[in-house]
This record gives sequence, structure tokens and C-alpha cells, in this order.
Amino acid sequence: MAENSTVDLKLDQAHSARMYDYYLGGTTNFPADREAAGRALAAFPSILATARINRRFMRRATRFLAQEGMTQFFDIGTGIPTSPNLHEVAQEVTPAARVIYTDNDPIVLAHARALLHSHSEGHTSYAHADVTDPAALLATPEIAGTLDFTRPIALSLNALLHFVTDDRVDGGAHGIVEHLKAALPSGSTLSITHVTPDFDPEGIARLTGAYRAAGTPGQARPHAEIVRLFDGWELLDPGVVPTQRWRPTDEDHAENVTDAEAACYAGIARKP
Ligand code: SAH
Repeated sequence: MAENSTVDLKLDQAHSARMYDYYLGGTTNFPADREAAGRALAAFPSILATARINRRFMRRATRFLAQEGMTQFFDIGTGIPTSPNLHEVAQEVTPAARVIYTDNDPIVLAHARALLHSHSEGHTSYAHADVTDPAALLATPEIAGTLDFTRPIALSLNALLHFVTDDRVDGGAHGIVEHLKAALPSGSTLSITHVTPDFDPEGIARLTGAYRAAGTPGQARPHAEIVRLFDGWELLDPGVVPTQRWRPTDEDHAENVTDAEAACYAGIARKP
């Protein structure tokens, strides 16, 4: 893990990871984040439900994948720790599960220790890396040291790719995902959640406007583009659906959110 004592956390500027932490009721956010989050909330009041439902999917999906026998988890765009984190869910099912978290945000790095309380039988580590350079990301020693790329890996890109606008990198978000998919062996899985304009185009346009104004450009994508990210892999039932509709438990049903409030699609596919 990189040394974090020299990192500039830019607390005077709003940051998407800290805004997300604020939506979730966390305490790792500062006045600039809360101001920007307030503007995002005014633009799209359901954002609190969107964030909560997204987080619930991460836990449901991780439990499901661990129960399906996945033992290696590769999470990119981890976010600020919110218990239970992915490794806690995975290691509750499979104590020996190995988990690597990755994010490009210094504040997530600063909190990484909170992500590293691994079950003693398993292994959990953190890599500071940027998904827009997937070759460099895959080459980070923490990742190679944690995962065995000859055995199936559960890759998760939850609420990440809408921050990767297609104008930012050659091949856009699709090219990045293809690069990552190519590195994984047969039997690996890919989980994605992603903001979509499909159910409330005006609301999502206001939301992306609020993020852009706060210094974070974003790109909401329609269903077909999110499905395309899974190209060549077998989508598991029920396919790419609004987040709360992906294998909900009774508790999820009780949340009673609409597709427009969820505002994201979720899907999981397996590499043939
Ligand atoms: N995956 C978590 C957090 C989503 S918030 C969840 O679904 O609950 C999005 C996270 O992606 C933030 O922590 C942000 O810092 C990170 N992120 C944004 N752009 C990134 C990039 N280019 N590379 C790596 N991480 C990125």
C-alpha cells in the first residue's frame, strides 16, 4: 500500500466518494462535500435511496457469489468503508476468501486500514490504482500478491463506471471493462451497478449536472450500453435489471423502491 502521509485529501473540494458516504449516513465527509451533496439531493432527491439500494446489492451479490463457491474477490471503486464491507460479507460465508480492494481516491486509501481487518483464515488487501489505466492497475503488486489469476475471480465494478466518461480514455468504459475481463480466467464473474437515465431522464440530467458542477463529470448509460459491458459472458438470472430487482430478499422487497429511485442497473455475468 502506498504511503499516505503526503497525500493531499483536498478537503476544500467536494469528492464523489465522500458525497456517497454522506448519502449513506457516514461521517467521512466535510463541508464542501455536504454542500455539493445538498445540491445533488436538490437535483435528485432519491439519491439517498439510490445509494442505499446500491450498497444492499453489493452485499447480496457478494453473499450469492461466495455461496456459489467464489473465493477470490476483486473490487474496483471500493468507496469509503461502510460496514459490512465486501470482505466481511464474503468471509462470513467463506472465511478463507481473498479480497483485494482498489480505488484511486486518497481518502479511501487513508481509510484502507479499516478495510483490512481480514478474517484470520482469509486475506484482504488494498491497492491504490486508477481503473482508467487497467494495464497499470493489473500490474500493481498488491493485486498480483492477493489474487491467483489462474483460478476464478469475482470482479466487481459497483457504482464506478458512471464516473468513467467515454471521452476520457481510448475505447471508453467498454474498452476498460474488456481489458479487465480478458485478464480473468474462465469461471470468473463480473458484477456491475451503473446509473441509468432510463427511468427519469430529467432527474438524472439534473444529477449529472450537479456532479459536473462539483468537479466530477459523469455519464449515465442506457440499458443496452450496460448490457454490452458483459459482452461474451453469460448473464446470470435475472439479467441486467434495476438494482433492487436483482434477486431481492424479503428485506429488499420491504424497501419498496421504484426503478426511478434505484436509478441504477445491476447485473452479474460469468466467463464461459
Ligand atoms: N463500490 C462502492 C462505492 C461506489 S462510489 C459501492 O458501490 O458502494 C464510487 C467509487 O469509485 C469512489 O470511491 C471513487 O473514488 C471511485 N472511483 C471513481 N473513479 C475512479 C477511477 N478512475 N479509478 C478507481 N476508482 C475510482
